[in-house]
Amino acid sequence: MTPEDTTIAVVGDGFGSLLVYATAIYVGFRPEQIAVYGPTPYAVATYAGHAGNLGQTVLRSESESHFLPADWPTFAQLDAWSRRSPAPLLRSIRRRYNPGLAEILTEARTVEDRLGLRARRIPKRIGWLHRELDPEPHFLIYGEDELLLGRARHVAIALGHGPVSFPRVLAQAREDPELRERIVQAYEPKTYRDGGRYVVIGAGIASVNEWANALEAGAKVISLLRNPAPEEQDLNTPRCFFEAYGIDAFQELTFEQRVAFLGAILKGTSPRRRAWIEIVEEGIAQDRFDQLIGEVDEAKPGPAGLSVHVSSRHGPAPGWLDVTGVVCGTGFVRSCLATPLVRRLVDSYGLQVEDGRLVLRSNCGVPGLDLPESRLCAMGLLANSVVPHGDTIAGLKYIARRFVADCVEAEQLRERPLGSRLRMQLSLARAASGAIRRTRESEQLA
Ligand SMILES: Cc1cc2nc3c(=O)[nH]c(=O)nc-3n(C[C@H](O)[C@H](O)[C@H](O)COP(=O)(O)OP(=O)(O)OC[C@H]3O[C@@H](n4cnc5c(N)ncnc54)[C@H](O)[C@@H]3O)c2cc1C
Repeated sequence: MTPEDTTIAVVGDGFGSLLVYATAIYVGFRPEQIAVYGPTPYAVATYAGHAGNLGQTVLRSESESHFLPADWPTFAQLDAWSRRSPAPLLRSIRRRYNPGLAEILTEARTVEDRLGLRARRIPKRIGWLHRELDPEPHFLIYGEDELLLGRARHVAIALGHGPVSFPRVLAQAREDPELRERIVQAYEPKTYRDGGRYVVIGAGIASVNEWANALEAGAKVISLLRNPAPEEQDLNTPRCFFEAYGIDAFQELTFEQRVAFLGAILKGTSPRRRAWIEIVEEGIAQDRFDQLIGEVDEAKPGPAGLSVHVSSRHGPAPGWLDVTGVVCGTGFVRSCLATPLVRRLVDSYGLQVEDGRLVLRSNCGVPGLDLPESRLCAMGLLANSVVPHGDTIAGLKYIARRFVADCVEAEQLRERPLGSRLRMQLSLARAASGAIRRTRESEQLA
C-alpha cells in the first residue's frame, strides 16, 4: 500500500471526521488534500450502532446540530421543507424540536456521498502517530499493524468513545462463556425475554431506557443503584439542565421524584415511545419494577440463568438474586488511557493527563506536538476538558471549524469564493431534503 500524502488527516472515521471533511471542502481544500483513517464504511456507522442498541429515535440535540457545512438552513428548516410542513419550525421556535435519527443520518450520508468522502477513506485503524520535523513539520501515520499508511501536515484525532465499561465483578464473570450473553452493556445489542427478570445497573438515560425496554418486553426489572443518588450523569444527560437544577438538589430527591424529573428532561433518547415514564409507572403498579441500593459482588450461573449477590453500604444487603440477565448502563470507560493510540502517545511523548483527561490547549491542540504550521488537534470526548460539549455534534463542529481555519491559515489557502460556497450549501441542502423526504418521518417526543 502506497502511503497517502495529504495536507489534512483525520484519525477516526465518525461524526468528527465528516465535520472536518465537509468544513475543509467548503472553505476550499480539495478532496485529495484530505484523508480519513478508520475501519467503518461510513461516518455515521459507529454512532448508528450505539443509537440502535439503545433504541434512540430522535436526537437529544436541537436544530443547530447537523452536518451541512454552514449552519443555515437549520435542521428544523430543512425538515420543514422536506416534509412540506411548518410543524418542525413551530416546535423549534418553542425549543421543542429534536432532529429525528433517520433524518439526521440521512443528511449526514448525503453530505458524505456528495462531497466524495468515501473515496478519501483509508479503511485502517491507526496505531501510531509519529511527529517529524524535517524537512518540514508533519506526521507519519501508522496502522495498528505498524505499516506506514500516510503522512499529513495537520492531524485531527476523533476516536469517539473508549471501550464500554462494566463493574469489575461483572467484567470477570463475562469471561465465562456461559454467563457472557447474560451480562451486557446498554450500548450492546440485547433481547429481553417475556417473563424474564433483569437487573439494570445505573440510573442514567441508558439505564432508564433499558427499564422501559425490558418492561415493554414483558420482563421484570430490578433497578440497581450503587448509591441512593447517582454519582455520575450518563453521556446523554443534558448537562445544562443538571447545572440549572443543581446536582445537589437532584440528589435530595426521592426515587419517585427523580423518575419524574428525568421524565421531564430526558425527552429525546427515550425510544419509540412518547412516555417511558408511563411504562415505568405501570411497571411499578404491576409489581414488575423494583429498585435496590447495592453493588454486585459475586456472579455465578443460577436456576434462572444467573445468580448475583448484592451487598450494600446503605442499609440491609439484598443478598442473592436469581435473574435472567444483567444490563449495565455504566457507559464507557472515561479515561483517555483506555484508548490504545492515546495511551501510546501519552507514554512516548510524555503528554500530560489529569483525572483521565488529556491536557489540551484552548484550541484543542496537543501540547508539545501541536504547532501552528502543523496542527495536532483532539476532538470529541478527548477534547471535553476544553470544550465541555466537545462530544456532541455542536461541539465537534466547533472544534472542526477552528481546526480547519488554522489549516487554512497555515497553508495560506486560496479560499472558495462566497458564491461557490452558497451554491455548494444550497445543493447539499436540496439533496439532503430530497433524501429526507424519502425516509419515514420520526415521531417527535418532546
Ligand atoms: C447513543 C448515543 C447518542 C448520542 N446522541 C447525541 C445527540 O442526540 N446529539 C449530539 O449532538 N450528540 C449525541 N451523541 C454524542 C456524539 O455526537 C457522538 O458520540 C459522535 O458520534 C461523536 O463523534 P466522534 O467522531 O467523536 O466519534 P464516533 O462517531 O464514535 O467515531 C469515532 C470513530 O473512530 C474510529 N476509531 C476508533 N479508534 C480508531 C483508531 N485507532 N484508528 C482509526 N479509527 C478509529 C471508530 O471506529 C469510530 O468509527 C450521542 C452519542 C451516543 C453514543
